[in-house]
Amino acid sequence: MFKNKKIFILGMGKSGVSVAKLLAKDNHILITDIKCDDLEQVRELEDLGVNVIITKNQSEIFDNSYDYLVKNPGVRLDNSVVLKAEEYNIPVLTELEVAYRYLPEVKIVGITGSNGKTTTTTIIYEFLKTAGLPVHLAGNIGYPLCSQLDKIKKGDILVVEISSHQLVNLDKFKVDVAVLTNLYQVHLDFFGTFEKYKMNKLRIFNNQDEDSVAILNKGDKEVYELTKNLKAKKEYFSYKEDADICIDGENIVLNNEKVISLSDIRVKGVHNYENIMAAILAAKQFNVSNKVIKEVLNNFAGVEHRIEFVAKIKGREFYNDSKATNVDSTITALKSFNNDVILILGGLDRGHSFEPLLPYLKHVKHIVCYGETKMRIKDFADKNNIDVTVTDNLMEAVHVAYNISLEGDTILLSPACASWDQYKSFEDRGNEFKKIVGELS
Ligand code: ADP
Repeated sequence: MFKNKKIFILGMGKSGVSVAKLLAKDNHILITDIKCDDLEQVRELEDLGVNVIITKNQSEIFDNSYDYLVKNPGVRLDNSVVLKAEEYNIPVLTELEVAYRYLPEVKIVGITGSNGKTTTTTIIYEFLKTAGLPVHLAGNIGYPLCSQLDKIKKGDILVVEISSHQLVNLDKFKVDVAVLTNLYQVHLDFFGTFEKYKMNKLRIFNNQDEDSVAILNKGDKEVYELTKNLKAKKEYFSYKEDADICIDGENIVLNNEKVISLSDIRVKGVHNYENIMAAILAAKQFNVSNKVIKEVLNNFAGVEHRIEFVAKIKGREFYNDSKATNVDSTITALKSFNNDVILILGGLDRGHSFEPLLPYLKHVKHIVCYGETKMRIKDFADKNNIDVTVTDNLMEAVHVAYNISLEGDTILLSPACASWDQYKSFEDRGNEFKKIVGELS
């Protein structure tokens, strides 16, 4: 708990605001951001005694009188305020670590990995909730843990999605059941090297002991090699090979016993089977029955913006995979379709290569590109003799894709780029895609 501390909060996103509200009662809080359009939010914070300062020169208002710096997870590690805090030996925390210090005795299931976090988190939560257990959803999935604290009681279970950015400043946070879905080369702009990114991901196991559980992807070489010496009890899932939970061709099998047949699972794709197997291992720590698992998986249709079926119009199926903000996610989506695909690509230019897509484009008959990366995508397609059309925006891209499509085709938005060149978030981009498709019909 924090009492009579002077705390500097950097960033007024959802997590910064929820941390400020939590700490305001007993501490002196300053929160700052470069901009804030939500005046009501500012007023609410000021009413709680929080000092709100909107400025571009945040390092000028930060000095060594503070006890803690709480930074938004997305704030870079070379940010001038963060560097100053390190120089002054002021501890740097994130919202999750602050919330942890206020928790009663609970069990925490923490999910991290390069891809599949939100889906796996959601499935675990659904399993536990359907089994009637006292469970709460929190973390990177959109619910800061600070904002959930007043609902959480002793003995409850928390299912927490933890991003790599959130892991950086975790200190005492202990995950009882940790899930590491996979490791891909992402967020290199933030971490600098893949090595540093991987080492950071291992922080999820930092405070685990012999009573803890680590749920690991045996088919992911990086995950398998890096986690050999954990203190926790290791449980493996794998699509490809023999593991505690695996696939015998038609069924998901746990310790040689059938849990569910693949045909009874509503979502498709190898990646989803992996997420499901990880989730089953997590649920089994709480003795969730196969009956509950079957009930959930019969109905679970996936999470919005993740290879989400949108509509069938004149024999063409539209899928929204706006969450595919990197090339690996787009590869995952492409692996989930066997028919002809028209692929919409494009968005923020992080300088990343599109070459890794090449082996997976055999059934892509046309690429339609837009956004900041459109000319680089065109060059990539031209070089590899793939038909491509350059457009200015998503609206035009969808119309072009529809006009060149034939009955039986899939039109897939799986952009392989972040959305921030034209949208506030991948959710906005996905919603706009769905709206445009809705207007076609
Ligand atoms: P995250 O929260 O880690 O970003 P999501 O569950 O939101 O992951 O899924 C985002 C995208 O990542 C999906 O649309 C899919 O393309 C891909 N994906 C999901 N699960 C996996 C997995 N287990 N392995 C590889 N890719 C995956």
